[in-house]
Amino acid sequence: MLNGNMKLAIQKKGRLTDKSLQLLRNCGLDIEDYSERLIISSRNFELDILFLRDDDIPEYVQDGVADIGIVGEDVIQEKKAKVELVRKLGYGRCNLALAIPENKNITKLSELNGQRIATSFPNLLNNFLQKNNINATAVEISGSVEIAPSLGVADLICDLVSTGNTLKMNKLKKSFDVFSSEAVLIATPNLSNDPVKQETLQNLLVRIDSALNAKSSKYLMMNAPRKALEEIERILPSLKSPTIVPLADENMVAVHAVIPSDKFWAIHKQLMDAGASGILLLPIENMIV
Ligand code: ATP
Ligand code: MG
Repeated sequence: MLNGNMKLAIQKKGRLTDKSLQLLRNCGLDIEDYSERLIISSRNFELDILFLRDDDIPEYVQDGVADIGIVGEDVIQEKKAKVELVRKLGYGRCNLALAIPENKNITKLSELNGQRIATSFPNLLNNFLQKNNINATAVEISGSVEIAPSLGVADLICDLVSTGNTLKMNKLKKSFDVFSSEAVLIATPNLSNDPVKQETLQNLLVRIDSALNAKSSKYLMMNAPRKALEEIERILPSLKSPTIVPLADENMVAVHAVIPSDKFWAIHKQLMDAGASGILLLPIENMIV
């Protein structure tokens, strides 16, 4: 721990662990399988990775014990940590939402007045209540919040929801959204005082941005009649003009383009109708734009 490496804190075991390690590997960092270790060093980048409970990450980064960290935005806001938000990372998306027993109905926010709401996020909940002028009581519970209504401890809950399956299992249904969250990269406020670490962070950010760009894009290749080129270029949602490669058959060309990952199924039929064939969609590992 006493080397001068930059220290990155990530969740030891939980919903963000695998995706955070995957992101770092997509950044080209050589990270050994960490199994149960508390700290590991990357073999090819001046970075040490600390594995912590996610609740502890905001404070450790605020105090500079770790220089940077990856954690849910929900946890940072809840802990009111003074850290710099450096990048949104696009995974770990979830909503902190109010949920009510299936047999109840709440259609207006004002109906929350006088209710007891069980949550592990009292600060975020109270901000929401205050902003909406609601007088309700936050009942703080550290885990298994969803059973609070059936135990009679609270009338409704405020908890993280992604698919809603856990709610269903506990005969609850989602009501109002309180906060939407995703994993973010944070930095300690004084990092700019350390030019070496500042440079390491910039180097890491180039790699992170490249990995995030690559994830949101795909490489599309197809063959097409030369005379259909104009139509195909019109259909393609690529930011930059596509690459056109001549083929042995001079009436045909190959078209290569980088497109947003989620657009392919919206355009594949139009491309085929325009005459495209041999369509290939490939993942991109890294992309510097
Ligand atoms: P730890 O043991 O590290 O304290 P935890 O149990 O508090 O872990 P997890 O359940 O692993 O935390 O969730 C970590 C983060 O994952 C949350 O803070 C949130 O940002 C994100 N997340 C994404 N989807 C969900 C979900 N459906 N439920 C809960 N958290 C989610
Ligand atoms: Mg936690």
